[in-house]
Amino acid sequence: MDCLFCSIIKGDIPSTKVYEDDQVYAFKDINPMAPVHVLIIPKQHISSVNDITEENCAVTGHILAVAAKLAKELGIAEDGYRVVSNCGPNAGQTVFHLHFHLLGGKKLKVEMC
Ligand code: 5GP
Ligand code: ZN
Repeated sequence: MDCLFCSIIKGDIPSTKVYEDDQVYAFKDINPMAPVHVLIIPKQHISSVNDITEENCAVTGHILAVAAKLAKELGIAEDGYRVVSNCGPNAGQTVFHLHFHLLGGKKLKVEMC
């Protein structure tokens, strides 16, 4: 399967790694929208939130735990940050491998839609 983020996990496409374990990979977004902009992705290919099921959902809880850990390490936990996953065209999803944006380091706009 031709997937940009699977290629990043494999190391076929370079990325700036922030964290890795057996379940997830986290790396800097190539086009940061905030001083801290990290993408946290499952190593297992899941296309989007649409494809999260009772069988594969455990990794999403782990991703949030990793987000909290990275927020502390990157110094944004106290001031606050946002964790967001875009699903489908109306949300602006451009890469169809599930990913959670960890955004912080500035006062973020409060725009939910
Ligand atoms: P989406 O729009 O699907 O929610 O987010 C996709 C994100 O992936 C975007 O923020 C975009 O900047 C980032 N991105 C796209 N291609 C690459 C890449 O090759 N390397 C990295 N590090 N980030 C990428
Ligand atoms: Zn993938």
